[in-house]
Amino acid sequence: MAAISLSKLNKHYGSLFHAVKDVDLEIADKEFVALVGPSGCGKSTTLRMIAGLEDISSGDIRIGNRVVNDLPPRDRDIAMVFQNYALYQHMSVYDNLAFGLRNKKTSEAEIKAAIDRAAGMLGLHELLARKPKQLSGGQQQRVALGRCIVRNPEVFLFDEPLSNLDAKLRAQMRIEIKRLHAAIPTTSVFVTHDQVEAMTLGDRVVIMRDGRVQQVGTPLQVYGKPANKFVAGFIGAPAMNFVNVTVRSDGGATTVEADGLKLTVGGADARALAAYNGKPAIMGARPEHLALGEGAPGASFDAHVEVVEQLGSEILLETRVGSHGITVARVPAETVIASGDRVRVSGQPGRLHFFDPETELPITAA
Ligand code: ATP
Repeated sequence: MAAISLSKLNKHYGSLFHAVKDVDLEIADKEFVALVGPSGCGKSTTLRMIAGLEDISSGDIRIGNRVVNDLPPRDRDIAMVFQNYALYQHMSVYDNLAFGLRNKKTSEAEIKAAIDRAAGMLGLHELLARKPKQLSGGQQQRVALGRCIVRNPEVFLFDEPLSNLDAKLRAQMRIEIKRLHAAIPTTSVFVTHDQVEAMTLGDRVVIMRDGRVQQVGTPLQVYGKPANKFVAGFIGAPAMNFVNVTVRSDGGATTVEADGLKLTVGGADARALAAYNGKPAIMGARPEHLALGEGAPGASFDAHVEVVEQLGSEILLETRVGSHGITVARVPAETVIASGDRVRVSGQPGRLHFFDPETELPITAA
């Protein structure tokens, strides 16, 4: 049983660089949390501080009911999986799996039972006599996972464990990690720069930027109600379209206008935008919430098709609307369409997002 609590956690590298800034995060016992953000945002440093591999500059880290700030890694009851597997090359898979337990003077019979169980879960039985160099990347990563499982730790920490694998294997390993967490629910923190990995694995996702937490939420929350423009653009693929618009709200209809585009907005969006009459705002539209065709009155605009990407299951369109590039996803694969065509694009009512250009926070009704 181990919840993790980070409180006002900071990391300074020397006097100049502030890599992790006032991070507060409560991770429940058995929860799977994904830390995601662009390169250099401080996610690995945060994970390494939880592991005890990096000193903290200020703040507190609790695992279970212990403050572990000054505990060495071996006393924190954690197991860590790295990107580069970190297996002992001269040892067999069996001995790699047994290594940590032998260090703890566990009996060979208990070690064998633990390895049997982990090998069964991860399909490693046939590989136990091999050396790491006789394994594929995916198999090596599975051994690295197995080494964590046999130790039965309170906490699993993952530092970009799938980034060395090809796309297909990554998808497979993602499923294995999910299955593993269902079978042995252990508090887990998973660092990745890949938002798809974070969304599919995490019970909750933590989005970081420049050392600060931007939002913590379930995948549906961070996708549906992003806390700011950065999160809106980072979560979701293809990325959200952003258009600088001017708001017109005359007490009757509310419209947002940009060159080549004039849309009517209603409901909660109209109420929220009332305070922006005559002022600029940023409109966000997810590519999957746009469709070809006329749509509801005031919800569509003309677009010039620049690039057609046929994916087999659907078409992605890169279009130009005035001076803006707009991506449209989920166009049926059989649609006859070519670059140079003019099309009508409509937005799904109620699926647009609006942000304040200064603060980049969502514009919501008071
Ligand atoms: P990536 O996905 O590229 O690993 P990250 O979000 O995990 O990125 P961190 O490794 O946590 O980023 O690094 C955060 C910042 O701290 C980066 O700007 C990095 O250059 C800096 N940094 C990391 N380690 C050190 C160090 N030992 N000395 C100085 N700066 C460091």
